[in-house]
Amino acid sequence: MKALVYQGPYQMPLMDMQEPKPESEQVIIQVKAVGICGSDVHGFRGTTGRRMPPIIMGHEFSGVVSAVGTAVNEWKTGDRVVINPLLTCGVCASCLAGKPNTCQDRHCLGVDMHGAYASFVAVHRSMVHALPDEVTFAQGAMVEPLAVAMHAANITDFSLCEDVVIIGAGTIGLLTLLSVKMKGAGKVIQIDTDPHRLAFAESIGATHVINAAKTDAVQEVRALTGDKGADAVIEAVGISATANQSLYLVKNGGNVTWIGNSQPEIKINMQQIVTRELTLKGSYGFTSEFTTALAAIQQQIIDPMVLVEKEITLAEASNIIDDLARGKAQYIKVMVNI
Ligand SMILES: [Zn+2]
Ligand SMILES: [Zn+2]
Repeated sequence: MKALVYQGPYQMPLMDMQEPKPESEQVIIQVKAVGICGSDVHGFRGTTGRRMPPIIMGHEFSGVVSAVGTAVNEWKTGDRVVINPLLTCGVCASCLAGKPNTCQDRHCLGVDMHGAYASFVAVHRSMVHALPDEVTFAQGAMVEPLAVAMHAANITDFSLCEDVVIIGAGTIGLLTLLSVKMKGAGKVIQIDTDPHRLAFAESIGATHVINAAKTDAVQEVRALTGDKGADAVIEAVGISATANQSLYLVKNGGNVTWIGNSQPEIKINMQQIVTRELTLKGSYGFTSEFTTALAAIQQQIIDPMVLVEKEITLAEASNIIDDLARGKAQYIKVMVNI
């Protein structure tokens, strides 16, 4: 089979690989659609330290069952499916508390197990969900990022019509915009430095957009919120500058959620958190939001396909990821059809 194999910074050639064979509890998926995630692009640059070569990336995907292990009786060849890329133990305190996203023995397809930039991928039976007939494979590949955004919106406390700032207008930032609007936010102010992304945010419902490269975002948010700051801020970039900025954008006693995950160590102003009694939360992955996201797409409550600006083949993916990593291409979401 063909697969994109990450071999080190800026190296991910299309290679011939052996097709995976199912272990007893595994299902082999013939990949039909896989989204290119910003975290894969960061991983491709070799800066985040989470993806170690050699690895096949790709964790946002759907497909068709092509083989099942001897113990698997709930899936059969030909079933349309969508995959939850998180493999969790099911028995640790986090799993038992219904928070498998913080499982103590957590693995993720395409991060520390071979993922879906390939014709076939082996997954544990517990990761497989049925893809309803009316949901396309490409829509199925958007379930995972939508679930990530919905989780951040779910765990961020704000009341109806309160003001929310979202820093970052990439895929997750924009899906978070759709999610906080669904949850009942008032003003939703999106901050980025890329005019294309900001225009996109406005086109899908941001009430205000701020280009932080051109204006002082803190001053502008204060002006938009009666000088108090936003009720809640969600950071979807994951670097020092924006993590710090999130503290200055929120009101005293407000809620800040960090979902961006790019720079491992950052420097922040601790006194802002202590003396203004801010609540700071991390948001990672999702729990029940995977099935919520799938249902929201099936019921046409949300159409995440509005973010897909380019559809490509697996053979084209290596060059596109290289272009995205070098800033030569600016697509919000690229979908690989296999
Ligand atoms: Zn992702
Ligand atoms: Zn666990």
